Amino acid sequence: MGSTGWFVDAVSDLVTGSACVGCARAGRLVCASCAATLPARGAPAVVDPWPPGLVPTWAGAPHADLARALVVGHKERGRLGLRAPLGRLLAAAVTAGVGPPPGRGRLLLCPVPSRPGTVRRRGHDATGAVVARAVRALRAQGYDAVRVDLLRSGRARDQGDLDAAGRAVNLVGTMRCPAHLLRATASRHGRGAVVLCDDVVTTGATLVEAARALASGGVPVLLAATVTSTPRHGGRRVRSSEDSQARSLPRVGRGD
Ligand SMILES: [Zn+2]
Repeated sequence: MGSTGWFVDAVSDLVTGSACVGCARAGRLVCASCAATLPARGAPAVVDPWPPGLVPTWAGAPHADLARALVVGHKERGRLGLRAPLGRLLAAAVTAGVGPPPGRGRLLLCPVPSRPGTVRRRGHDATGAVVARAVRALRAQGYDAVRVDLLRSGRARDQGDLDAAGRAVNLVGTMRCPAHLLRATASRHGRGAVVLCDDVVTTGATLVEAARALASGGVPVLLAATVTSTPRHGGRRVRSSEDSQARSLPRVGRGD
């Protein structure tokens, strides 16, 4: 399909913005030149090595170049028109992990929650909105996908200059999976495979904490999916989707 594939179409159709997030050229949110640098179907790959203690984790693209600009432009600059291509990148990560439709049956995409103060500051729930777009993209491809909000974020702690191990320790206990959210989700959506979703994976510490909170509520996670992965992980994208799909993972659910 080359550079004229769905992903390029998606960004080319964006409403006109004041400047391209990739090169700052006046005009579209993503100009034609920048759009041409994107892979036609994203570049999903398993994060390798998987963050210690985490389920298999897939990213839609390396956190570089235009993909990085899309993430930052949406999250920090409130360019809401970027949600569609971001959602498609996240959807590409999910499909790489679960295989072709119907994948692993009903997919319950659970966003990693932002800190309440962060949502207020940005004026929007960036990750939740991208997950909602990914759900739309997945359903259009024939998947039974829904967004579920099972997690809440507690008080913020400054991650500062902590290393990966320090970040992981610092994050423990900052998220929770309230029982009333579990009951509401089970009653509304029944059983399904939980896919933990975030915008970027760096050390994986945030995803590990989110998975821990879900596990403490009795909810196993099938896999994690992110829009992008940082070069720390993105530089070793060696596994193909065929040999890395989590076929042997247990199907999980909250149907009770
Ligand atoms: Zn551009």
